[in-house]
Amino acid sequence: MNDSANGDYRNVLRERVREVHRRLQQHYPETRTLLQFENGYQLLTAVILSAQTTDASVNSVTPELFRRYPDPLSLAEANLAEVERMVKRTGFFRSKAKNITATARGLVEQFGGEVPEAMEELLSLPGVGRKTAHVVRGTLFGKPSIIVDTHFGRVTRRLGLTVESDPTKIERALEPIIPSEIQHGFSMRVNFHGRDCCSSRKPACFRCPIEDLCPYDEKRMSET
Ligand code: SF4
Repeated sequence: MNDSANGDYRNVLRERVREVHRRLQQHYPETRTLLQFENGYQLLTAVILSAQTTDASVNSVTPELFRRYPDPLSLAEANLAEVERMVKRTGFFRSKAKNITATARGLVEQFGGEVPEAMEELLSLPGVGRKTAHVVRGTLFGKPSIIVDTHFGRVTRRLGLTVESDPTKIERALEPIIPSEIQHGFSMRVNFHGRDCCSSRKPACFRCPIEDLCPYDEKRMSET
């Protein structure tokens, strides 16, 4: 494709993104994460625990965890075996316990116990990857954030917005076509849509509010 055709195609995708977002906004007016938290430290910890598990499973362990370790300093100094026991239900508990305690230590040692806003600073914390950093930046600081998880990747591929499967490549491919002011809302709503309607094995295309905007060629147009 030459530059002009590339630009035209990008404009088509930007329009598709805006319309998808407009419709999903009506279905999912709220964009708040389903993880329970009361401050930045709690959000960051909960997001790290949410890898490979459900928000409900994280919410089932965090109240006790945050009662026992109410701030980064107390978690940084925690006994690792005790933390492992407390987060066991979220799966991969050994690495998660290690990551949340190391991240708490990083917050104390590098940032005075506060969650930093800059992407590079968040990524400098052990256990914090791009997805976690974007959730925190979008949720706590209202920054543009493309949050790529398994649901977001699947839905955006089906919508023809990207052909990539690697999360960082998906983020880079979508950055130019999702206007910055809707990046966080778009990410959250596409995520909700992936869980609620556009599931991996049985997408409910017959009741999908963006079906006419979706070029996916294996749509399921009936419930059976
Ligand atoms: S039409 Fe089907 S595949 Fe496309 S977004 Fe909707 S549920 Fe997903």
